[in-house]
Formats: sequence, C-alpha cells, structure tokens
Amino acid sequence: MIRVHIWNENIHDREDYVRAVYPDGIHGALADIFRDEDVRVTTGFLDEDEQGLPEKVLAETDVLIWWGHCAHDRVTDDTVSRVIGHIHAGMGFIPLHSAHHSKVFRALCGTTANLKWRNDDRERIWTVDPHHPIAQGIPEHFELDTEEMYGEPFDIPSPDEVVFMGWFAGGEVFRSGCTFTRGGRIFYFQPGHETYPTYKNEYVRRIIRNAVFWAAPAGKRTGIPVTNPPSLENN
Ligand code: ZN
Repeated sequence: MIRVHIWNENIHDREDYVRAVYPDGIHGALADIFRDEDVRVTTGFLDEDEQGLPEKVLAETDVLIWWGHCAHDRVTDDTVSRVIGHIHAGMGFIPLHSAHHSKVFRALCGTTANLKWRNDDRERIWTVDPHHPIAQGIPEHFELDTEEMYGEPFDIPSPDEVVFMGWFAGGEVFRSGCTFTRGGRIFYFQPGHETYPTYKNEYVRRIIRNAVFWAAPAGKRTGIPVTNPPSLENN
C-alpha cells in the first residue's frame, strides 16, 4: 500500500468561490482520486501543528502532494528542510499548479521557477512522452475548457523528462508535466487553478494517480495498476 500525504495550504478553500467548485476543498478532490485504489491518504494543512507536515507524518509518507498559492512565505524554513530531507531520502513529491513557487520546489530546483501567467484560457495538454508510466491511459491530447495560462520561459533546471506540454488558445506553450530526481522522484504538474474544476477532469485525475504510483520510493514501486482508460465521452 502506498501512503500519500496531501498537503494544502487550505486558504482559498474557505472562500465561497472555491467552495462552489470544491465543496470538500482542493484536498478533498485530490483525495477522491484514490477512492478505489490501494492507497492510504492523509491530509495536512498550513494552520495545523508543525504546519501539517510533522516528522512523524513525513516518516510514514511515500508520496507528498503539495497545493499552495498565497501563503508560500508562511511555510517556515524548518518545515522546508524537514520536507526536503525526506525527498532526499526517497520520498516522492508532486507539486501541483502554483506550487511551482513553493519554497520546497524552488529549493529543489535551485532556480526561481518563474513563469508567464495569465487568467482564463483554454488549454490543450499534449502527451509528448506516451510511453512514460505517468502517461498510461492518457490520450495524445485532451482539453481543459478553462485553466490559468502558465507559459514559457519556465525557469527550472532541465527536467529529467517532459511528459506533457500545455498549449493555450492565446498561443503560449508550457512544460506542463515534468519529472526530476532529487533522491526521491518529483513530478511537477501545471493544471489546477482553484476556481476551475480541473481536479474533476478524468485525465487530470488519472495523471495524478499515475504519478503517485510512479513517484513512490524504490521499495514500493509495484508498477501502475492497469484499469480501463477513461473514455473521451466523459471528458
Ligand atoms: Zn492559479
């Protein structure tokens, strides 16, 4: 069984405009991805003891999923070094969307992780590495009717692999799904602005699910369970 800890700063989630999209919070939508999987899910929030990332929890976490946006600066250096220590020791790490600017991801990259940014655009996500385990069951491309535009240049070190590229109706492109290794395996995935129902999209959910199985520590990698790919009609 893979143990996933979903960390959410959990600030936008208290506002009506996010509650309307995610009644159970962004963490609730992410946890729901693993409803039928052999995965144990826990959640942690910024305002909890040790910022929702105590040593005891991290020691029992195989893969940490991270959603943060407006409170990156409130994550303490102690928390950052605790998390990075576990990643260096093999814990998987999946920073989502605006977590590109989290202290943890920036420290792992050693760069600013800056990017171009614009509201409300249609995104087409291209699977550019279809044989990658994270791309299992994902079509050549799929669309999100509305997502926040993140565009190149994206100031990151060259990824190990670029699995997905995003194209936006405004013309920008972005390395939307990238892998890195820093002891543990890391998968950065761009979609997931808090006001859009992105984490309800079947393909987005499958990518995050696949990424968890892929990013698990070496001793826990069992291969990605095969299930029927989601159908295009559901998208
Ligand atoms: Zn956003």
